[in-house]
Amino acid sequence: MNTPTGRLPVVVVGAGPVGLAAAAHLLERGLEALVLEAGERVGAAVRQWHHVRLFSPWRYDVDAAAARLLTPTGWEHPEPTGLPTGGDLVERYLEPLAATEALAPRTRTGARVVAVSRVGLDKTRSRGRDERPFLVRVQQAGGTVVDHHARAVIDASGTWGQPNPLGVSGLPALGEDEAAPFLAGPLPDVLGAERDRFAGRRVLVVGAGHSATNTLLNLVALADEAPATRVVWAVRGASVTRSYGGGDLDGLPARGALGARLRDAVESGRVELRTEVTVSALEPRGGEVVVVARTPAGEQRLVVDVIAAATGFRPDLGVLRELRLDLDPGVEAPARLAPLIDPEFHSCGTVPPHGADVLAHPESGFFTAGTKSYGRAPTFLLATGYEQVRSIAAHLAGDVEAAADVRLDLPETGVCSSSTPAVAADGTVEIDESAGGSCCGSTTGPAGAPQPITVGAGPVVGAGAGAGLGFSTGFLRGRSGEASAGDPRATSRGCRG
Ligand SMILES: Cc1cc2nc3c(=O)[nH]c(=O)nc-3n(C[C@H](O)[C@H](O)[C@H](O)COP(=O)(O)OP(=O)(O)OC[C@H]3O[C@@H](n4cnc5c(N)ncnc54)[C@H](O)[C@@H]3O)c2cc1C
Repeated sequence: MNTPTGRLPVVVVGAGPVGLAAAAHLLERGLEALVLEAGERVGAAVRQWHHVRLFSPWRYDVDAAAARLLTPTGWEHPEPTGLPTGGDLVERYLEPLAATEALAPRTRTGARVVAVSRVGLDKTRSRGRDERPFLVRVQQAGGTVVDHHARAVIDASGTWGQPNPLGVSGLPALGEDEAAPFLAGPLPDVLGAERDRFAGRRVLVVGAGHSATNTLLNLVALADEAPATRVVWAVRGASVTRSYGGGDLDGLPARGALGARLRDAVESGRVELRTEVTVSALEPRGGEVVVVARTPAGEQRLVVDVIAAATGFRPDLGVLRELRLDLDPGVEAPARLAPLIDPEFHSCGTVPPHGADVLAHPESGFFTAGTKSYGRAPTFLLATGYEQVRSIAAHLAGDVEAAADVRLDLPETGVCSSSTPAVAADGTVEIDESAGGSCCGSTTGPAGAPQPITVGAGPVVGAGAGAGLGFSTGFLRGRSGEASAGDPRATSRGCRG
């Protein structure tokens, strides 16, 4: 960029794993970077699920450019096959990375980006738009609002801060805002910091995904110690087969074991399952809340003390209102990426490696990366995000060839190894990659059993769990596959499709 704009930094929104990796790639390319993080410390979102163990071993959790910044400081790459918790990821990787000589002066915490626009131009103005710097408006921790100018913006602010509401129709249930004190968030630390909130209480878990499963299993463990704990699990669908995984036949023994544990907990009555439930209203009543639900049998009213709403996340698009975006209207991901990850058809982690071109918007120089780039799709993986920002940095540096040369360096086995992870006495968890097997699987499998996932040229990992290991990020087909295994849209857009 030969205009004065070219001397401005690239602003990176969010100091999560992908935002910090973006800064590392930008600096390596000789571009100035400024990372703006809303939280008081880097990795603010990951800290919220510090108690959850990832399914990706360390070798896929560390970005290559970040490692190149860290290595000269004496940092040692954690055991590549070890499985970190969210807390490990922050302490052993994100904090040392943000503290490097290169990133420390370029990372501001307590800096929430509240809007992004073009200097002097609202969204309707076209003339000279591409040459204008970006205006990034930031609310600082003390409340002061300041504007930064940027040559480009990479929004890696994630989706953790925007959980989907409990109510059906994508809107909060009536009374949901007033019931906020009873809502514990998607992944409460049931066995740790938030134990007292759950022990001996009536708990409702809503959702059929990995977060719900993690919380349910942790609540079952809590109920062993505090028997008065009552656990109710409500899902919208008529079946929870997908949440149980493939059991003994699952390509991933760890996932199968967790699914089997959940099934046992339901069948033994330790978890009270309610299917075909949609929450229509919440009515706080003293120290408890009445959950009003619609079911095929009519309206039901359930009185509980606390609710864990594991209903997924959505991106905050409000801050991007003044930018010209090309987003898929359903998935809210960049239009070219959305068909590859649309949860309606495609709930596996498989996505071809992609970079600047797929992530580009009509607003030249603006990109979403990381979890936010996936919009409402739940299957994002760190390795994908690291490749996104490598490509974006190359594009911004004018290296067209490197920007286009996208690849995901994942092996045929390992990330989703079929071997059962081993937990050592010190709590270290490792997987045996030599055991072979793959989570890629064929598209056929045990009847009715969800199939494991893949990404790019190799297998993939998924979200982890608290007391042990978590589930993969997805199954072979999306919601449509669950509804109808014979749906041609499901198969044509499925994994490796
Ligand atoms: C429980 C769980 C387990 C997971 N396990 C795995 C796994 O095993 N393997 C894997 O590959 N992936 C996993 N993921 C998915 C994904 O890799 C993580 O969510 C990862 O943290 C995404 O990184 P990110 O940088 O895109 O976003 P985040 O980690 O969410 O970081 C975004 C940052 O932006 C900040 N921010 C937000 N809004 C603003 C704003 N307006 N201004 C400034 N800053 C802002 C946030 O505070 C945060 O620090 C998991 C996710 C979860 C939730």
